[in-house]
Amino acid sequence: MLDSLFNPESIAIIGASRTEGKLGHAILANVIDSKFAGPIYPINPTASEILGYEVYPTLADVPGPIGLAVIVIPAESVMQALADCAANDVGAVIVISAGFRETGREGLKLERQMAEIAEAHNMPIVGPNVLGVIDTIAPYNASFAVGMPSRGHIAFMSQSGALCTAVLDIALAQNIGFSRFVSLGNKAHLNEIDFLQSWADDEQSKVVMAYLEGIVDGERFIKEARQITKKKPVIAIKSGTTSGGSRAVSSHTGTLAGSERAYEAAFKQAGVLRADSISEMFDLAIAFARQPLPKGDRIAIITNAGGPGIMATDALEKSGLKLAGLNPEIQRKLKENLPAAASVLNPIDVLGDARSDRYKAVFQTVLSDENVDAVVVILTPQFTTEIEETARALADAFEAQPAASRKPVIACFMGEAHMHEARRLFYERNIPSYPIPERAAAAMKAMVAQASWMAKPLPEFEEFEVDRETVAKIFAQVRADDRVQIGDAESRDILVAYGIRIPKSQLCTTADEAATFAREIGYPVVMKIASPDILHKTDVGGVRVGLRDATDVRDAFDLMVYRAQKYQPNAQLWGCLVQEQAPDGKEVIVGMNRDPQFGPLVMFGLGGIYVEVLKDVAFRIAPFNREEAMVMMQEIRSFDLLRGVRGQPPADLDTVADTLLRLSQLVTDFPEIVELDINPLMIFERGQGVMGVDMRLVLKSE
Ligand code: ADP
Ligand code: MG
Repeated sequence: MLDSLFNPESIAIIGASRTEGKLGHAILANVIDSKFAGPIYPINPTASEILGYEVYPTLADVPGPIGLAVIVIPAESVMQALADCAANDVGAVIVISAGFRETGREGLKLERQMAEIAEAHNMPIVGPNVLGVIDTIAPYNASFAVGMPSRGHIAFMSQSGALCTAVLDIALAQNIGFSRFVSLGNKAHLNEIDFLQSWADDEQSKVVMAYLEGIVDGERFIKEARQITKKKPVIAIKSGTTSGGSRAVSSHTGTLAGSERAYEAAFKQAGVLRADSISEMFDLAIAFARQPLPKGDRIAIITNAGGPGIMATDALEKSGLKLAGLNPEIQRKLKENLPAAASVLNPIDVLGDARSDRYKAVFQTVLSDENVDAVVVILTPQFTTEIEETARALADAFEAQPAASRKPVIACFMGEAHMHEARRLFYERNIPSYPIPERAAAAMKAMVAQASWMAKPLPEFEEFEVDRETVAKIFAQVRADDRVQIGDAESRDILVAYGIRIPKSQLCTTADEAATFAREIGYPVVMKIASPDILHKTDVGGVRVGLRDATDVRDAFDLMVYRAQKYQPNAQLWGCLVQEQAPDGKEVIVGMNRDPQFGPLVMFGLGGIYVEVLKDVAFRIAPFNREEAMVMMQEIRSFDLLRGVRGQPPADLDTVADTLLRLSQLVTDFPEIVELDINPLMIFERGQGVMGVDMRLVLKSE
């Protein structure tokens, strides 16, 4: 789809200027300097020649086909220019000009029109309000950036033009190469999803870096990003808050959710690696652009000093990686080649007097161990250390591996003043090197994560047989009453319709009725006040557990109704719910809050009244599969409580996973549900299932 953008046959600059210092001049100069191979057409009605190129008054005057047009004129003339582009069959357009959605409603309207023109004429548009696009493969530099990066394997997109220039400057200083470099701007037409799609099969781009401030279509983003991340790594920085998250929330899930949680879940489910800073983004991208992925997570560390070896071990283990257990045969071989004081257990200590030959011999031996998937080589500059020679020897040994089965290596040459030469050498030889073990570990972690993500097939989502009609009816009834909140008493049928077990219960309008039903289900029973206006029942003394006989039940009925009337005089009272008392179990919360960008954000956490204090919760965006549900549960800090510790039996987590999936289906089937809590969901011992004991649901206000 984006061939016309990335491989244009010619470039026209609408608004090319004679005046140095103007954008229209800078862009033309950049296109020329970038050694673009095709014709370059400056467009300007009042000039005849700029920078040695013939100028055309209008697009229609251009003698050949126009692959790419760059528009750099005042905002008020942009729409006319786009119409001209369409009329002249331009392949793709970059609108540099600013002054659209960022100036208000009128600008937003114009951007909508841009998208329409783009679609109607199959003429993709980048921008408006962008720095431009650089393509080192074509090559061309259609931007007003200062300088052109070298050719490389990193594709980069950024929503902030200013950040583009900063990233470019870092890249220029460190000679980091790019394949494509795109400033996204206001995303009137092309957005991050289009570029992810375009780069998925771009052989020139081995890794994608993205700086995103807001994602246009969250659900589609996850779907599409998941496709590309199965082929190559995508590293994203997400900053800034998003709009639209200001709806007042009434559920626990709503309170705990939020845009940050949604992004975190979305990136995880899409296989997008998240970087917290620009330097981390580069750290990871460089590793991906230059090294093969590891086959597993067993890492060997080679070091010439004990302390840094321990630091690296800590950093790797904190990242969830394993230190490889070396093969005994390999250990024996290492011992033969090393002084007696050296350690041949991982981390392998080659000692402070190690010269390049010892490093190399050990490195080669370790690479040959089938228990090792990747190697981190640490060097500290000691008295006899041969810094550059060691770097060279390691690079030689790395390259000596058969190309198809190369194990990745990351260098961590610690220090600064004496390391420049070695770093340059590593860079030239495609070995990522970092000055501290933590950064090396972060890069290694990302590589292992990417490899394991790519090994997994795309998720398939289960579909349960459910009773949608019943739920639709309940919603219609609630709407007819002019309400949007659904409490415990009404929500039970919804859970049943979606196959989530609930305790036996009945709404009773009199104390006698309550006593009769209680006898029917057997004591002890639970009673709860039933009112569409009371959502936190405990707060008004509206929940009683452990009622043992008819007297208890009658007393509870009268007391609860009395209290409810006293605390909330305006509440409409339906009576009391009499309910089977659940056996002892663990209380968790499962819920959903509809995120403005990504849709249904499903939550799991330890339940009860402290959920908002402890915030021990995990999120996923529906739909997700059973495996993701299991991992989601394991993410909470108190997971051990559920898994069964200190003689406690393990809880029925399979059924909780099942419940999470059913809940996901419910909120996907009914987009009008904006919030939902099941709190608590009682979990019993393995094999005994769960029970949705309390539920609250909020429908979208019309
Ligand atoms: P609310 O959250 O509106 O105050 P709940 O229905 O969640 O009311 O009840 C509060 C607490 O009472 C629950 O967290 C649970 O500990 C206990 N409880 C409620 N219903 C039952 C039941 N059927 N069996 C056992 N315990 C229950
Ligand atoms: Mg509750």
